[in-house]
Amino acid sequence: MYEKVIYLRLYNTLTKKIEEFKPYNDKEVTLYTCGPTVYHFAHIGNLRTYIFEDILEKSLEYVGYNVKRCMNITDVGHMSSDADTGEDKMIKGAIRENKTVYEIADYYTEAFFKDASKLNIRKPKIIERASKHIDFYIKMIEKLLKEGYAYISNGNVYFDISKVKDYYALSGKNQEELIIGAREDVNYDIHKRNPYDFGLWFTVSKFANQDMKWDSPWGVGYPGWHIECSGISINYLGEHLDIHCGGVDNIFPHHTNEIAQSEAYLGHKWCSYWLHGEHLNDATGKMSKSKGEFLTVSLLEEKGYNPLVYRFFCLQSHYRNQLVFSYEALDKASSTYNKLLNKINIIKNNTDGIVEEDVLNNYKNKFKEAINNDLNTSLMITCLYDILKENVNNNTKIEVIKSYDQVLSLDLLNDNKKELSSDLIKYIEDKINERALAKQNKDYVKADLIRKELEEKNIIIKDTREGTKYEVI
Ligand code: AMP
Ligand code: ZN
Repeated sequence: MYEKVIYLRLYNTLTKKIEEFKPYNDKEVTLYTCGPTVYHFAHIGNLRTYIFEDILEKSLEYVGYNVKRCMNITDVGHMSSDADTGEDKMIKGAIRENKTVYEIADYYTEAFFKDASKLNIRKPKIIERASKHIDFYIKMIEKLLKEGYAYISNGNVYFDISKVKDYYALSGKNQEELIIGAREDVNYDIHKRNPYDFGLWFTVSKFANQDMKWDSPWGVGYPGWHIECSGISINYLGEHLDIHCGGVDNIFPHHTNEIAQSEAYLGHKWCSYWLHGEHLNDATGKMSKSKGEFLTVSLLEEKGYNPLVYRFFCLQSHYRNQLVFSYEALDKASSTYNKLLNKINIIKNNTDGIVEEDVLNNYKNKFKEAINNDLNTSLMITCLYDILKENVNNNTKIEVIKSYDQVLSLDLLNDNKKELSSDLIKYIEDKINERALAKQNKDYVKADLIRKELEEKNIIIKDTREGTKYEVI
């Protein structure tokens, strides 16, 4: 373990400033990251947020902290609008696929972790399903009711936001403007005292066709979406949380509500640092699971991209900047990533010299500076290019690259080359067949273009007597 860096500087959404990070307990950083709603595949926008959180966790470790990270799986209570209106997302998924909510949850949880692993996103140590902690939410809600923070209306339990100070602090939103807007909303729930009060417990009066339901002091029903993250976090990471993350859309109302109910329940400040990743957008603006092309990791693979090219694409920009996805931009990232791997391969194949500890430590410190600069991933990549150009022996370069890849996780040294996915194999085989057909038709220009297209994706083909063979380098 390296010497701990004292000042890790991160942007805190709560204070709207870059701040020095000081954990509550010096020995261990507690980190909570909102997990996926498992009603469908994650799109690559969702996964951008998980890449940022993965970088954060590994960066904290790089500078010397032990990290205890927890993530929930949302399998109950999340409506299509984050403000408790619209359809229930899980029921929507079950109807779409004619399955039970439990089957949908299992299937898409597994799919999520499969996609995440293709992007070298490490599984958090603690992963908890929202539906497994009902007793704890009930305990919290009972206390909130007893202490006057919550009320019952139309059979549901709501949190009364007028009972907490600084409800809008995290979002920096203007209360008056928001309330006028909400009252004009046709979906406005008339059973709430204030339009931004939120559901802690819904009885089946809200969705009669709800599969996931439990007994409670307020009738058979299910918890609201927000209480699950507070409950799981307090249960597993304790009453003083260091860092809470999510995408920017989580700031309001989800994280705002988490702060309100957690602090009302605990009776003291709960989480010190709030970090939010900006969105990945497509050409039309917002990324969507229902409109336009549904961009998933599998789709990228079907088109012949190594998922790590997408990770590299994300790391080239800062997590607090919006990023626009296009295939042209991904192609550019692919070509840069492949050139980088080629350069590293040459070094790997020409090892020489004894590792120069001074140079190694210098480069580790440069990398830490990039981390301390609010997780500046593009600066981290610059450090990588710098060591490639450095006038030092190759064994030292390899040690630096290995060290950087603990955070970047771009398989830079290809030590743990993954098995090719079936989507990628199919893509390559289809291209080889298309090329064979082009050659049969004497369309050598097309055949050549296909070879080049594959080469750009680091897929090298060789014509042999036994047919065309390929290698992914
Ligand atoms: P969900 O599965 O809808 O609960 O979202 C999972 C995570 O993805 C949340 O942390 C969201 O903030 C985040 N997210 C949603 N849309 C995007 C996007 N277009 N770009 C980046 N992150 C997103
Ligand atoms: Zn959450």
